[in-house]
Amino acid sequence: MENCIFCKIVAGEIPSPRLYEDEKMIVIRDIEPKAKLHYLCIPKTHFALLSEMDTEKAEILKHCFSVIPALEEKLGLQEGYRVIINQGENGGQTVKHLHIHLLGGEKLADF
Ligand code: AMP
Ligand code: ZN
Repeated sequence: MENCIFCKIVAGEIPSPRLYEDEKMIVIRDIEPKAKLHYLCIPKTHFALLSEMDTEKAEILKHCFSVIPALEEKLGLQEGYRVIINQGENGGQTVKHLHIHLLGGEKLADF
């Protein structure tokens, strides 16, 4: 997808150290961390919104959620963390390539 910053990161056109990578996803640090530890799990396949979900795309998200728990220790999240997917305008989504935020490393504020 042209002009998608996360597609460019996945393609290596924008450098961003990968803390984890497999055939379906990468994990990077968020460039503007909103918690002591803030990671982004980015599917390699571009799709913008949860509303585009279909069986094939759901398999990608299923993969992400099956891998994330195995990364807790490596990412320093063993004390717990928050998982967020921002959706659309009201959800505060700024990058229209679906991604999963992982926030932790400290006790997070209630919301
Ligand atoms: P969202 O607001 O849910 O769309 O989240 C987009 C996130 O991407 C924000 O938290 C940004 O700080 C983060 N971000 C934008 N550009 C980069 C980048 N080049 N490397 C890492 N994180 C980025
Ligand atoms: Zn993209």
